[in-house]
Amino acid sequence: MREQVCLYMCPYARFQSAMFDSDTLIVAYHPERGEPRGSRRCGTDLQQAGLGDCIDCNVCVQVCPTGIDIRKGLQYECIACSACIDGCNEIMDKMNYPRGLIDYTTENAALGNPQRILRPRVMVYAAILLILCGSVLTNLLQRIPLELDVIRDRNTLYRETREGLIENVYKLKILNMDEQAHRYMLTADGIDGLKLVLDEPVIEVRAGTVQQFIARIQADEFNLEDRSVSISFHLQAADANHLQTSEEARFVGPGKN
Ligand code: SF4
Ligand code: SF4
Repeated sequence: MREQVCLYMCPYARFQSAMFDSDTLIVAYHPERGEPRGSRRCGTDLQQAGLGDCIDCNVCVQVCPTGIDIRKGLQYECIACSACIDGCNEIMDKMNYPRGLIDYTTENAALGNPQRILRPRVMVYAAILLILCGSVLTNLLQRIPLELDVIRDRNTLYRETREGLIENVYKLKILNMDEQAHRYMLTADGIDGLKLVLDEPVIEVRAGTVQQFIARIQADEFNLEDRSVSISFHLQAADANHLQTSEEARFVGPGKN
C-alpha cells in the first residue's frame, strides 16, 4: 500500500519531473564504477575478476520505498529519500570499498559537463518561494484570533413582533482563539432603523473557547427593499481595539409586494 501511495498518489515525483534540469541534484548510481556487477568473495581482486564495485546484493532495491532499481537510471518514481544511498554505503563499508557507489549528483556532473548553480530556473523558483513565504508571514502577522459564525434560524422564516416589526433569529458563535478572555460587543447594520436584541449587551468569552448565543434582528417592513436583504454583524472586543470582525447574513421579510 505504501508503495502504491508513493507511486500514484504522492505529487512529489510529478512536480519533480516538471522542475528538473541537468543541474538538479539527483540520487544516482555510478555505472562506470559499479559495472560489471556480480557477486564475489571479500578481498577478490576486481581487475582480475573483471568486476565493478556493485556486488549485486539488491539491498538498494529492497530498501527503496517505491521498489525501483536505481541502477537502471533515474525514474520518475524516485522520491530522493536516499534510503538506497545508506543501504549501499553499508555494503561498501562491509566490502571495504569506498562509499558513494550510489550518491547525490547531477546529470551534468555524471556526464563530466560544466555545472551551474545560479541559473534562471533557480532564481524564478527562489522568487516564488520568497513571495509564498512573505505572504504566509504577512497572513500570520495579520491574523486576528477571533471568528464570528452566523447561522440564521431555519425553523421560521420570520415572525412579526407585537410592535409590528419583522423579526429574524440568528444563532451566533464567537470563537476566541486568543490566550486571554475578552468581552465582546455586537452591532448590526444593513437596514434603516434595524434593531438588535440580545440577552446580554456584552458577551464574555473565555480564552480558547467558543460561546454560542441567540441574536434577534427586528426591522420595519417598510424599510425592507426586498424579501431577502443583506445585513452585517460586527463584533468588537471591549478591551482590545484590534480584535474586531464582521460577518454577513440575510434578513428575510414579507417583501414590498
Ligand atoms: S532515493 Fe533510492 S531508495 Fe529513495 S526512492 Fe529513490 S531510488 Fe528509491
Ligand atoms: S546496494 Fe550497492 S552493491 Fe548492492 S546491488 Fe545496490 S548498488 Fe549494488
